[in-house]
Amino acid sequence: TSSDTQPDCLFCRIVAGEIPATVVAETDTTVAFRDINPHAPTHVLVVPREHHQDAVELAEQSPGVLADLFTAAGRIAAAEGIAADGYRLLFNTGADAGQTVPHAHLHLLGGRPLGGLVG
Ligand code: 5GP
Ligand code: ZN
Repeated sequence: TSSDTQPDCLFCRIVAGEIPATVVAETDTTVAFRDINPHAPTHVLVVPREHHQDAVELAEQSPGVLADLFTAAGRIAAAEGIAADGYRLLFNTGADAGQTVPHAHLHLLGGRPLGGLVG
């Protein structure tokens, strides 16, 4: 489901500033903050300000905002100094992928060799 915000959604609450996070970048449509349990030297979550439960719903309902997540991630990778060595961008979607927060979020991982499909 989708709406501008959902009061019980963790990432809506981070976007609203109601729960603290280490924010590394913001745009009109996106907020990026460090993952609380990082799996790489750089592990940033880039989220839409709008609530969408996953990346596919975001693509269907706000494709421009989906693109904004990727362009934001590219700028963050450059700022983190990892753009030249490379990095991974991924969306977990649904239970079998291990999606634990039902607010679309792009993982930006880098700063070390990441190995196989999902590290
Ligand atoms: P998922 O498994 O849903 O793709 O990713 C959710 C991510 O959110 C996990 O990597 C987890 O560590 C991170 N996370 C969960 N709760 C919080 C929180 O309160 N703050 C931050 N910064 N990250 C969180
Ligand atoms: Zn939300």
